[in-house]
Amino acid sequence: MTPIDPTDFRDINPGERLLMGPGPSDVPARVLQALAAPCIGHLDPYFLATMNQTQQLLRYLFQTANGLTIPVSATGSAGMEACFANLVECGDEVVVAVNGVFGTRMCDIVQRIGGKLVRVDAEWGRAVDPAAVAAAVKGCRPKVVAVVHAETSTGACTPLEDISTIAHAAGALLLVDCVTSLGGMSVPIDPLQVDAAYSGTQKCLSCPPGLSPVTFSAAAVKALEQRKHPVVSWYLDLSMVRDYWGGDRKYHHTAPVNMVYALREALRLIAEEGLEARFARHRLNHRALVAGLEAMGLAMLVPAEERLPMLNAVRIPEGVNDAKVRQALLSEFAIEIGGGLGQFAGKVWRVGLMGHSCRRRNVMLFLAALETVLKAQGFKARPGAQAAADSVYTSAPA
Ligand SMILES: *Cc1c(COP(=O)(O)O)cnc(C)c1O
Repeated sequence: MTPIDPTDFRDINPGERLLMGPGPSDVPARVLQALAAPCIGHLDPYFLATMNQTQQLLRYLFQTANGLTIPVSATGSAGMEACFANLVECGDEVVVAVNGVFGTRMCDIVQRIGGKLVRVDAEWGRAVDPAAVAAAVKGCRPKVVAVVHAETSTGACTPLEDISTIAHAAGALLLVDCVTSLGGMSVPIDPLQVDAAYSGTQKCLSCPPGLSPVTFSAAAVKALEQRKHPVVSWYLDLSMVRDYWGGDRKYHHTAPVNMVYALREALRLIAEEGLEARFARHRLNHRALVAGLEAMGLAMLVPAEERLPMLNAVRIPEGVNDAKVRQALLSEFAIEIGGGLGQFAGKVWRVGLMGHSCRRRNVMLFLAALETVLKAQGFKARPGAQAAADSVYTSAPA
């Protein structure tokens, strides 16, 4: 073994960043403080009460009365895998709408667990057309219809109303990815009759990555109880995990105690702000950012009526070096934004306005920084970005 000198390893101190990418978003001090509270036993009465309160707060955010509402102990992708693995058995037909990277990830999971995938390909950067989902559903007998509410890879929002009607008319369960939408826009689980949904802590909840809030409707729980075969994943088997989070507190795995503290605090901050106020804040800052970017002469990827408030994909102007701009934003201004994914790699920047990062101060600072960096790259931004953004703040409400 190579000997090591512990003095080579310094204290962790990443310095300050402004997280304006596709997640994680900036974590408020109160959430970091909660994370640093003493770690106690996961069956300690104090922690059991904390689990209950976390579930209560999650139901509020998901707008649901679902009993099975828990944070899965891993990131958003584990929530995705948990939903499919618990609801889909070998040979079950599953309709997946794909309009970006996360839809393709759903397809991958469905195939790995032996589901029969019926894929609905939609244009990337656009909402999914419900008519395409209806056509796919007609040709099969789906157990699950799955859709990504907020496609973080492109910034497109797919409305859920019509797809919910189509799924239920076909006798299928509706499964929704709301990793990026939850906490930044309304995700009305019960009113829209969503049967299963998963999210993540590091997007609009502004908590570090590590947990995936998941909720199952009564119909989804019934499907889980009526399975012919055990869930292929032991760790993500919600029939066991639910006994741990339910009244019995039957040991399954050790909950990540401090991450649950952090999630509870992030959810408490959301409840203090109020859902409507929080969603309005996301819309307002989004409108200001877009006004500023367009004033500079930049173009958005997604048509106005299909845009997400919390993830803004901007086309990279001709002749501008993608990586250099992002590097300069990080090294000169400590601002992180995201690059494009898949077919949009090198074509767009993804600017996040998620949760705690979604603030006027950040919008104005980012516009100024981007203008400076673009100038160094030889792109002459049209003047007036700050004024355009500012006029959004000083004029009509969201
Ligand atoms: C981030 C994200 C995921 C994956 O979450 P991880 O926490 O990275 O595992 C899934 N779906 C969407 C829409 C996302 O934005």
